[in-house]
Order: sequence, then structure tokens, then C-alpha cells
Amino acid sequence: MAVVRDQLEALWRLQQLDVEIDAVAARAARIEGERRARAAAVESRAAILAEAQQRLKTVEFDRRSAEKDLAAQEAAVRKIKSREALSAGAAVYAAREKDLAKERQRLSVAETRVLSLMEEADKLRESTVTLTRERDQAAEALAAFSRESAAAAEAATAEIAKLGERRAPIAAAVSADWLARYDRFREKGKRAVAEVRAHHCAACDAGLTLRDLGALLDAKTVQTCRACGCVLYLDPARAAEELRLSGAGAEKPAPGKPG
Ligand SMILES: [Zn+2]
Repeated sequence: MAVVRDQLEALWRLQQLDVEIDAVAARAARIEGERRARAAAVESRAAILAEAQQRLKTVEFDRRSAEKDLAAQEAAVRKIKSREALSAGAAVYAAREKDLAKERQRLSVAETRVLSLMEEADKLRESTVTLTRERDQAAEALAAFSRESAAAAEAATAEIAKLGERRAPIAAAVSADWLARYDRFREKGKRAVAEVRAHHCAACDAGLTLRDLGALLDAKTVQTCRACGCVLYLDPARAAEELRLSGAGAEKPAPGKPG
């Protein structure tokens, strides 16, 4: 009898410890997830910055080549103008005026292109300054967070190790069969032991019969929930309360009591 009670107590404590270990691990995982998300954000900022820098380089290159075009166009206009002064004859004059107009048109296009590329380069330069500042700030925040998360991970590892030390003797107190069953539940991400509260299984809320409750109180064998298969655990401190709720406690002594 005592053996079954000990088994149940050990199983219950084992599960409470595992819940605690899981919570510590989950907290550490959450912090690590947050760190990874921040690192990814820094990387994406760096990528956006690199893209803007590359674009700036291209625009600067285009601007220099447009400036060369503009200089060539200015030379072309000057050349025609210098010839114009020497020109004689209305037909030749008209032809050169036509050429001049054409070259001036090209000059205007070249000027517009240079101006627009200069404007674009200015905007890109401004944006790279902003992006650099943002990336640096994010990287700094990440570095600070990484230090915090490394400390948190270390603390979690130490805490889990300490809980593991407490777990080992408790697990050793559970029979191999029940430990295997317990582990199977845990592998499925389920709790293997459920408390009985108000004669219901706390895991699935299935109701217990009076017989179930009696068997639980006798503790001759390990009882499992018929609905979910959980090992049922009745906190000894709650046994009297469960009896009272079931009405069994009132029934039994009733004949002896004065009606
Ligand atoms: Zn259940």
C-alpha cells in the first residue's frame, strides 16, 4: 500500500519537476528566439544598406559618365557656333542653325540627366547615412541583448542542471514500467499524471465514480483515468475534501450518527 502511495507521490513530484524544467527551458528558448529575430533584423538592415550603397555607386558612375556626355555636348555646340561665325550663304547658315538647334537639344537632355543623377545621388547618400545609423543602433542593441541572453542561457542551464539533480533520485523511486509510461506521455507532449479535483480528472475533466475514488483512497494499485489514461493523483491533503464532496464521507458514518 505504502509502495503505491510512494510511487504516486514520486510520479507526481517527477512531473512537477519536469514542468519546472520545461518552463525554464521554454523561457531560455524564448529569449534565444528573440535574439535570433533581432540578429535577423540587423542582417536585413545591413542588406538594405548594402543595396543602397551599391545603388549609390552605380548612380555616381552614371553621373560621371553623364557629365562627360554633357562636356562633349557643350564642345559640340561651341564648335558649331565658332563655325557659324565664318559661315557664308543662307543655305549653309540655315543648315548650321539646324545642327546647332539639334545639338542644343541634346545638351539640354544631357544637363537634365546630370541634374537628375546628382539629385538621386544626394538622396541615396542621405538615405545611406540614415540606414548606417539605424544599422549601428540595431547592432548595438543586439550586442547588449546577446550579452543578456547569454547570461540568461547560462542561468537556465545551471537551473536545469540543479533541477536534474533533484530529479534523478525521484525518477529512481518510480518503477521502470511506470517511468516508461510516464516518458511515453511526455514524448507526446502530454502530462502523464493528473490531479483529482472535485472527483474529476484535472487533465481531461472526466468524472470519477465513487468506486474510482475509493480505489484511489485505498491506493492498492495505481489508478489511471479511463478517458485520457493519465495516472490519477490525489493529494493526501485533499483526500478528506474529496470524500466530503463525493458524499461518501457523509454516507458511511451516517448510520452511526443520530438522525
Ligand atoms: Zn483524464
